[in-house]
Amino acid sequence: DQALLEVKELKQYFPIKGGVFGRTVNHVKAVDDVSFTVNEGETVSIVGESGCGKSTTGRAILRLDNPYSGNIYFQGEDLVSLSKSQMRKKRKDLQIIFQDPYASLNPRQTVSQILEEAMEIQKVIPKKDRRKKITELLETVGIGAHQIDRYPHEFSGGQRQRIGIARALSVDPKLIVCDEAVSALDVSIQAQVLNLLKDLQRKFKLTYLFISHDLGVVRHISDRIIVMYLGKIVEVADKKSLFNQPRHPYTQALLSAIPSTNITERRERIILTGDVPSPIDPPAGCRFHTRCPLAFDRCAKEEPKLMSVSGSGYQQVACHLTEESKA
Ligand code: SF4
Ligand code: MG
Repeated sequence: DQALLEVKELKQYFPIKGGVFGRTVNHVKAVDDVSFTVNEGETVSIVGESGCGKSTTGRAILRLDNPYSGNIYFQGEDLVSLSKSQMRKKRKDLQIIFQDPYASLNPRQTVSQILEEAMEIQKVIPKKDRRKKITELLETVGIGAHQIDRYPHEFSGGQRQRIGIARALSVDPKLIVCDEAVSALDVSIQAQVLNLLKDLQRKFKLTYLFISHDLGVVRHISDRIIVMYLGKIVEVADKKSLFNQPRHPYTQALLSAIPSTNITERRERIILTGDVPSPIDPPAGCRFHTRCPLAFDRCAKEEPKLMSVSGSGYQQVACHLTEESKA
């Protein structure tokens, strides 16, 4: 079966210019050789601290930034090979929702104008049918018909995120990248928006790539979870395996930081010391070795490969310890 999305050996390096000639003297290696797939109808989350490369990965998939190298196959077609205008047409199928919908909603347009504009760009619905479709869409996300001629500032943060979702849906996409889509909202509102996203997924057969710094948030919505650290994938697993038996020491630390109400799940908090190293000059070997409580000789010398671990589900880990315990 072909995955809906296949990211292959993606690198996103941003040049650092310097010297009198303004030459590229170095690179920020924001994403460094990342590969994964997302199947149709699936919700895959990418989790990690700020600077791990998760948003950069999302942006590269939509070609908001052109990748440094690698391939991004969507329905078998490599998006990296598309021209700007071909890619603009593809945005009908791939949409993104950001953390701060306010920043992406034009304050001088009413909600219906905002959705109308998205529909106009993609020409998915004839003009005469748009008003009806807009009303339906907004009602689907919980914005009443009487509110559709209001301006963004007249809505709460949660409502504005619903409007952002409706705009993404207005072109009938297949894949939506949600970049910290609920991170700015209060916890109770977060839950409502996550539930909405789940409902919409069923209703419109959507596929989500859900990007978040918070494992607690992605827990309810994900089928599979990718954990990134300093531009690399350190663990990928189905939700159950990841939460029941996190294998990578970094995943274990992230997980230990989530407050749990469930006694059997309560873990001793693992406090990571030190800062995340610079992505300009990442540590040799395992990039996590400068902070890993379990690091040993091999870790600073040799880079661990992402390898499958046997267990009840699907799980891949990049750690020498896991590899040696299998041998
Ligand atoms: Fe820690 Fe070594 Fe595993 Fe990296 S490879 S996570 S440093 S034990
Ligand atoms: Mg981000």
